[in-house]
This record gives sequence, structure tokens and C-alpha cells, in this order.
Amino acid sequence: MKGFQLTEKEINQIVEKYPTPFLVSSLEEMRDNYRFLRKHLPKTGIYYAMKANPTPAMLQCMYDMGASFDVASAGEMEQLHALGIPGKRMIYANPVKDVRGLAMAERLGVRRYTFDDKSEISKIAARIPNAEVMVRIRVVNRNVLVDLNTKFGAAPDEALDLLQMAGHAGLNPIGICFHVGSQSLSTEAYEDALELCRELFDEAETRGMHLTHLDIGGGLPVPSAEGLSVNLKEMLEAIHARMEALFPDTDIWMEPGRFLCGTAVNLVTSVIGTKERNGHAWYVLDESIYGTLSGIIFDHWIYPMHWFRTGEERISSFVGPSCDSIDVLRRDIMVPRLYIGDKVLFTNIGAYSSVSASRFNGFEIAPTLIWEDLFQEDLPADLSRVEMVS
Ligand SMILES: *Cc1c(COP(=O)(O)O)cnc(C)c1O
Repeated sequence: MKGFQLTEKEINQIVEKYPTPFLVSSLEEMRDNYRFLRKHLPKTGIYYAMKANPTPAMLQCMYDMGASFDVASAGEMEQLHALGIPGKRMIYANPVKDVRGLAMAERLGVRRYTFDDKSEISKIAARIPNAEVMVRIRVVNRNVLVDLNTKFGAAPDEALDLLQMAGHAGLNPIGICFHVGSQSLSTEAYEDALELCRELFDEAETRGMHLTHLDIGGGLPVPSAEGLSVNLKEMLEAIHARMEALFPDTDIWMEPGRFLCGTAVNLVTSVIGTKERNGHAWYVLDESIYGTLSGIIFDHWIYPMHWFRTGEERISSFVGPSCDSIDVLRRDIMVPRLYIGDKVLFTNIGAYSSVSASRFNGFEIAPTLIWEDLFQEDLPADLSRVEMVS
């Protein structure tokens, strides 16, 4: 994986046509990430967790590569449907489903569902008799940035009871799923979860229930994240080896989100104001923590930043344009002197960024430009051909 990073020259070409802030998404980078997973986990199916980045061209690109999709709401299913993606290529992996979501899943013919409590069984059974269901179990992972197991997952010792209840309610219990938590840097978390699932599969056999499917969830880290201490190839190969040993005949898939899209997107911003505060430099950028940069809060993420000046470095802070004091993007880093109009580039900003941007304080949501559209032909003359995240 090369990683995707615009050069100063490319940025200058694009800003001749488009005002900042904007995002640029490389479909080829996303395809590279997809191929990397395919190569090192060759038997594991891929359901792209579209909540990480549902830009239409990126969804289409993953579909064309052969991916299916992890969806959580009627809105996500509807968006895929609008692209011509059939329900059988979706798993409804939100353990608690609302009425609209179930109605949409029924309409589009979604067959696979996850759940983590008995209260969900009758809801699914009433709408989609004979649906394939997987119980989501809680797993332990200390080496993770975002722990999802405090909110999701049944206790492992209740999992088989839940699957049996689902069977009695007319559903088709096919297997187990887990999610180790997001930005996981631990192979052991996967290995431990796989061991636990093997025990549960064996116990299910003794109860006369033959489980055939395993979903190992998302959580793989953004591949070229700053400071990433794990070797991803080794991590995936270790997970693959453990799956081969423990589940040679089981149908296995994963639900990567950030791994696929994280490195595919850059954000281009401009310095719109400068200040001296207590002897340090402050720069006001034209993108906000309420916009594309909300991952700083929600995803606990520090994005790599790049500027295009050299010279003596000073202690500098970067803030967004909104009138809220929480809108601080980075504090106290060493940066050469920047001037109004200078461009500041953020990389690895493809996951959990544009999707949760708001128009707080009336600032526009930054559009996503598709890299391959920009440079294969002339730049589109207006923003109408540009992908907008709805
Ligand atoms: C969010 C989510 C994912 C993707 O998580 P990443 O950390 O982006 O890989 C996968 N599966 C489920 C059920 C999720 O909720």
C-alpha cells in the first residue's frame, strides 16, 4: 500500500478550480487496501462497513471489486439500493433494528442479521421468517482505540441459548459474530475471540445445532496510520493461520470500515486567519471540528498534517473557523511560519470524517472530489460532477 498524498503541485492545480475546504478521494488507494485484505485473508469474505465512508463512488468501487456491505439503517440500505446493489449483498449488522430498518431490509430482500439480545428475536421473526441470524458476542481487547464491547455483544455463555431461541422462533441460526473494537493493534484479540468461538461452535454441536458461519467484524487499523506499531501483513497472516486451524470448513467474513477507506482521502484546507497568543502562533483553518474533522473527537483520531513552507519552526496551534472554543484541531506542534491563504493538507482522513460533518455555524460541508475523475480528463468545470456526501 502506497498511501495517498497529494503533492503541492496537484493541490495548486485543484484549487484553481475549487475553493477549499474539499476532500479528494483516491479509488485506486481503496482498491489497493481491498486487494491487500484479499491477498492475506484469501478465504474471508468482505462486507464493507459503509458507515466509515459512504461516498457513492467509493461504495460503487467496493461493489465492483466484489465486496458486500455491512449496513445499520434504512438509510444505508436505501443508498446501496439506489446504486443498484441487491439486498443479498448486505448484512444488517446493527444488533438492535428499528421499524424502518426492518421494513427496508424486508423490501430489499436482506437475508442476514445480527442480534445480541432475546428481545430482538421476535422483532426479526415477525418481519423476515427464516432469516439467517448470527449472535454477536462480547470479547475482550485492551489494545484498542475505540472499545465497542461495552455497548454491544451478548455474554458468551448466553450466546447458544440465544441462537436456540432464535431457531425456535422460526429463524435460521447460522453462526456467531464479534467485533474486537476499532483501530485494534492486537492480533491476540482476534486469536482469543476465535478460540472462544471455536468452543461455542463445538458446544453448539453437542446441543444438536450445526453452526456454519463466522463473522470476525471490523476493527482492523487504518493501514498507514501515524505511529502504527504493528506489521499488518504479519497480523493478517496470523489471523488467517488461526482461522485455518480452528475453522477449516466454516464460511467466514469480516466487516472492515476504516481499513478500506482510511488512507484513501485527503482534506485540503486554507489558513484564513493568524494570531499570536501568549507568544505562540495560532492558525485558523477553513475546516472545523464540526465538519470533516469531527473524528478528532468522535474517533479519538490525530490526522497527519502537512504544509508547504520551510524555515524556522515555532510552536503553533490550529483551530477551526467556528465560534466554539472546542473547535481546536491541534495544539502546540512545531511548524514554519504560515500565512493567510497557505494550504494545509490532512491525510489518512477517509474514515469517520465527512460522514458525520455538520453545518454548525452555517459553514458548508466540504465536498469530496474523486481523484481519478480529476486527472484522467480535464477538471470538471463546476461542482455538479463532484461527489457530495449526503
Ligand atoms: C463500525 C462497525 C464496523 C467497522 O469498524 P472499523 O473499525 O471501521 O473497521 C464493522 N462492523 C460493525 C458491526 C460496526 O458497527
